[in-house]
Amino acid sequence: MRTDESERLYAKALEFMPGGVNSPVRACKAVGSVPLFIDRASGSKIYDADGNVFIDYVCSWGPNILGHSYKPVTDAVKSACEKGLTFGACHRGEIRLASLIKKHFPSMEMLRLVNSGTEAVMSAIRAARGFTCRDKIVKFEGCYHGHSDGLLVKAGSGLMTNAIPSGAGVPHGCTENTLLAVYNDFSSVERIFESCGNEIAALIVEPCAANMGVVSPKEGFLPFLREITEKYGTVLIFDEVITGFRLSIGGAQQLYGITPDMTTLGKIVGGGMPLAAFGGKREIMECIAPLGSVYQAGTLSGNPIAAAAGIATIEALENHAEIYDELDRKSAEIERAMESAGMNVNRCGSLLTVFFTSEKAENYDSVKTADTKRYGEYYRYMLDKGIYCAPSQFEAMFVSATHSWEDINKTCDAIKGFH
Ligand SMILES: *Cc1c(COP(=O)(O)O)cnc(C)c1O
Repeated sequence: MRTDESERLYAKALEFMPGGVNSPVRACKAVGSVPLFIDRASGSKIYDADGNVFIDYVCSWGPNILGHSYKPVTDAVKSACEKGLTFGACHRGEIRLASLIKKHFPSMEMLRLVNSGTEAVMSAIRAARGFTCRDKIVKFEGCYHGHSDGLLVKAGSGLMTNAIPSGAGVPHGCTENTLLAVYNDFSSVERIFESCGNEIAALIVEPCAANMGVVSPKEGFLPFLREITEKYGTVLIFDEVITGFRLSIGGAQQLYGITPDMTTLGKIVGGGMPLAAFGGKREIMECIAPLGSVYQAGTLSGNPIAAAAGIATIEALENHAEIYDELDRKSAEIERAMESAGMNVNRCGSLLTVFFTSEKAENYDSVKTADTKRYGEYYRYMLDKGIYCAPSQFEAMFVSATHSWEDINKTCDAIKGFH
């Protein structure tokens, strides 16, 4: 495999951007590799600057559930472009997208459109604090909720990949109200609530964790979180930036049958464009300006192009409800191949992670026992077989509707050949 052109571009990028990238996991440092520069992508395939083609299981880290360049979405974007790129004013698309979101996430009685998952989470927490008049929040070790100050404590994703326990540049004051619990550990949550439950504004959780690698909630864990937050008047926030529209069209809350007070969405909801959303109970959302005194705003929020992509994506998911079963079957096939190769795999729907550890991967401490050097070998081996996986042990493999059975079989054969 030739990578001369990617290497040349990477050297150039290093002059301009820290680590040559605009988001840290892309640097591929953790897998002992240089980043591939992507030229174009279509369906399940990405093509790099050297002309290599790969079956893509990064899928832009989640948005591309319909594959790359899905025509109804790109058509919707093109025709929206014809009418103007941004207005900074109200338009029909915002209402259409909001109504589609609410249809599938009825717990989001009211919502706001924003530009990134980070912004959605940051704003949801502010609303929860404004509503409860409390300051403390609870998050779980290994869950990632974007890069806002208060949430950069034992966060997953790029912080785990690059072994950054707590981010520099975050004043102590910004995280002193962030309490840490252990994923899937009921008593770690109980202890926190027993000591100061009446001061906790919000508990935020990835209902299926996917930023420390995939870690499903244990039986009863989400109902327990629902119950304990209700008891203490704490706002339960499901961060469904990855799981929303992926685990089912109504996300993890539909799959597991748990109704949170607030939800954050990103990735799929923007159909590949920079768009995210947060919302929840009417009485909480009514605290937001101009109705209430919780301030939240955005020049490009509800951008017409991004909204068009989101609408077209959700409509396509509605029109092809069968894709969820297909995603499940294809992902299960990959899971079986990993198991038959003796690998330790966690799967939740179309999200999978192979962990190079013999421990059961069920929380931050156990996933951290994974051999990241071995994962690097796996990544480079798969790449050589024409398969592009996440350049990090602590991220998910994303299966899309455009992965054909041929793609899946080729992937399974490669997995079985890894020694
Ligand atoms: C990706 C992600 C975010 C952050 O979204 P950005 O759009 O990258 O800011 C937040 N929460 C979860 C669960 C995510 O997976």
